[in-house]
Amino acid sequence: MASTGPRMKLAVLTSGGDSAGMNAVVRAVVRAGINQGCETWVVREGYEGLVRGNIEGFQTGPSRQPHTEVKVKNPNLLDNLGFGDGELLKDGTGDLPSGRTLKGRYIVRVGWDDVRGWMGEGGTLIGTARSKTFRTEEGRLAAAFNMVKEGIDALVVCGGDGSLTGADVFRSEWPKLIATLKDQGKISAEQAEEHGHLRIVGLVGSIDNDMSLTDLTIGAPTALHRICESIDNINSTASSHSRAFVVEVMGRHCGWLALMAAVSSGADYLLIPESPPEEDSWEDAMCGKIHRHRDVGKRKTIVLVAEGACDKNLKPIRSDYVKEVLEQRLGLDTRVTTLGHVQRGGKPCALDRILPTLQGVEAVNALLESTPETPSYMIGMCGNKVKRVPLMEAVATTQAVAQALKEKDFKRAMSLRDPEFVECLEAFFATSGLDRTPYLSPPQRMRVAIMHTGAPSGGMNAATRAIVRYCFRMGHTAIAIQNGFLGLLDDSVYDFAWLSVDNWMAKGGSELGTNRTLPDIDLGAIAAKFQQHSFDALIMIGGFEAFTSLTILEEGRKHYPAFRIPLVHLPATISNNVPVTQHSLGCDTSLNALLEACDAIKQSAQASRNRVFVVETQGGKCGYLATMGALAAGAVIVYTPERGIKLDSLRDDVKYLKRRYAMDVKGRNEGRIVIRNEMSSHVYTTEMITKMFKEEGGTQFDSRSASLGHTLQGGIPSPIDRARAVRLALKCMAFVEEHHQLQPTSQSPVKQSVPESAAVITVQGSTVKWVPAYEMIHHADVKNRKGKHGWWEENVELVEMMVARPQIV
Ligand code: ADP
Repeated sequence: MASTGPRMKLAVLTSGGDSAGMNAVVRAVVRAGINQGCETWVVREGYEGLVRGNIEGFQTGPSRQPHTEVKVKNPNLLDNLGFGDGELLKDGTGDLPSGRTLKGRYIVRVGWDDVRGWMGEGGTLIGTARSKTFRTEEGRLAAAFNMVKEGIDALVVCGGDGSLTGADVFRSEWPKLIATLKDQGKISAEQAEEHGHLRIVGLVGSIDNDMSLTDLTIGAPTALHRICESIDNINSTASSHSRAFVVEVMGRHCGWLALMAAVSSGADYLLIPESPPEEDSWEDAMCGKIHRHRDVGKRKTIVLVAEGACDKNLKPIRSDYVKEVLEQRLGLDTRVTTLGHVQRGGKPCALDRILPTLQGVEAVNALLESTPETPSYMIGMCGNKVKRVPLMEAVATTQAVAQALKEKDFKRAMSLRDPEFVECLEAFFATSGLDRTPYLSPPQRMRVAIMHTGAPSGGMNAATRAIVRYCFRMGHTAIAIQNGFLGLLDDSVYDFAWLSVDNWMAKGGSELGTNRTLPDIDLGAIAAKFQQHSFDALIMIGGFEAFTSLTILEEGRKHYPAFRIPLVHLPATISNNVPVTQHSLGCDTSLNALLEACDAIKQSAQASRNRVFVVETQGGKCGYLATMGALAAGAVIVYTPERGIKLDSLRDDVKYLKRRYAMDVKGRNEGRIVIRNEMSSHVYTTEMITKMFKEEGGTQFDSRSASLGHTLQGGIPSPIDRARAVRLALKCMAFVEEHHQLQPTSQSPVKQSVPESAAVITVQGSTVKWVPAYEMIHHADVKNRKGKHGWWEENVELVEMMVARPQIV
């Protein structure tokens, strides 16, 4: 069916340093563009490709058609199904079966299937470069000519601040460039008229997370994964030999990677550009701190150094010099590990698949809405939400940080970083040191009990470690309750030692032991134990059981004064089913575990023949893990408890799969993933759906199932979960201290109940908010053990959009 012509011809390019997630950007831009009726192109080798353009006379062939006739709702999908260049882009410059080659072609038409499977690939498949020519007006004139020649006047640029600056220069110069091209007779008056306005949008691809006005840049979370994996590995060898390691990570002007890695790995010392040590002799300060650690028996030392670290006089601090200091002053056997390009490599983590997808879709919307009057936008993130910010404002604020550093104005540099950066730095100081004298005087000190409740999840141990370390710093006593409320009744209670939690950051599961028993098993006896151990505060780390326990204890305050102490719930559950909060500890870890399994399953699914894999996830009655997992894995169908499964939708699912397989290139095997939450339906089980697909697939496709079960709970916690654990744990301590001041001590016979002192710490967008237990109840769907509203629910539509379900069914 012939279409009426594209709404817009758009191209996407990746520029500057590569980063994980760039391929997900290209995939999302291409697919969202086609969904919106656009024609989609990629530019290879960044701006250099724009400058070079295509060899004369090259014609893009027609879009591949389905091998059997398929009707779709949006004909633009068939017009742009695929040009066969996807595989070619992946493999470099080999020849196409038709004899076409990518040599001499930098601006390449791509379709829906050309970007299939790109989400899980590291780096950038369309290539990136640093282009000197594009910095010149001559180069940009050539770039403009090449774009007009192909009829393209909308551009998505994914790169760092340099690339985005280039984008802004290009856009502001565009009218002049077009006028020049017309004057030179290179383009016609009609072409000049038609392409008078360049639409441009920037996405930040940078492993450093160095761009202002966005929470996270594309590629930074994956780089952090690589760093933490390396440090986890170094930890065991360091401990075995009682060695010190100086680990150098990337970041010339931005210490985000080093800071987050230091917090997530439990490093001993940190050197970053934004916050040089305040002491005149930082060497003394570092050695003093490490010496105290060694004094209590610590066998390993990790010092993290950002590439751009310097002292307060801007004298660079080199890793080799740090090593020398440690060897000479402390006699430590010290090694330097410079992580280098390892940090750029590898498979993108869950966040680097989800965020680029959301941002790529928004980039296309921004292009479509762009007018000569609107500014060029950068698409950034604020919490879970994508946001548009004027590109130049973001670049200018980013450059202001570098300028402040140059001027030794470290306070200003820190103030230009987002508040989370500052909090993380404070968290690092609060959890890495061992001070000889505690900060608080004895009357202000508390006995803080810590308990894990419910199922284990990544980050529980990291949060506990942070609380313990903070308690030591302030002079509180951190008390471990093993095995939840049952353990408390058994007196499985002990005081933590500073060193005992040292390697808990990277530990999965629950080191304290956890179970689902609630305090109402014997509330009176539990109250007696609170009294016996003189708890001044209780922090429960866990999922919905911890929340329920909190409400029971709060209710119990009426009868038991022992519960009239600060009671805190820090949500930690892979299901992410605690009301109000958007992220529980462990949900990022389990998303990554899910992805790893899906990547492997997909590979197996397409190795032998066309196969649909129905993957069952945990999550209880909450569809978070299934939905976000489906988005990150590029699944074709997702079943969640919120939506349920209906016979009609199953019929549509079969229809979708049949049509979709009919659209594939004949003879090429494709594996497709369907994700089903364990509680989506009692009747339409994973087994039943798998059998149904097998039966209906006939000769077209086969079907198998895989249940991931408890694999999603275990494993090493992700750096995002660990860093979040530390940040939230310290906020819990601040809350506990504040409410301890307001409340009489547990020994006091006249203790009053302050309802706000029993609360849950919640993440809402970019902010952390306390919600009292009595208020949380209103947001809870107690029967289904989850919140009443899930922010992720709308992403089911995005999952479907990314596989063209609305167009095909
Ligand atoms: P990053 O985007 O990772 O910061 P660079 O700073 O090297 O990397 O920029 C990438 C490319 O963007 C450069 O090679 C150049 O082609 C283009 N670019 C950067 N700054 C400008 C500028 N001021 N004017 C035009 N192009 C620029």
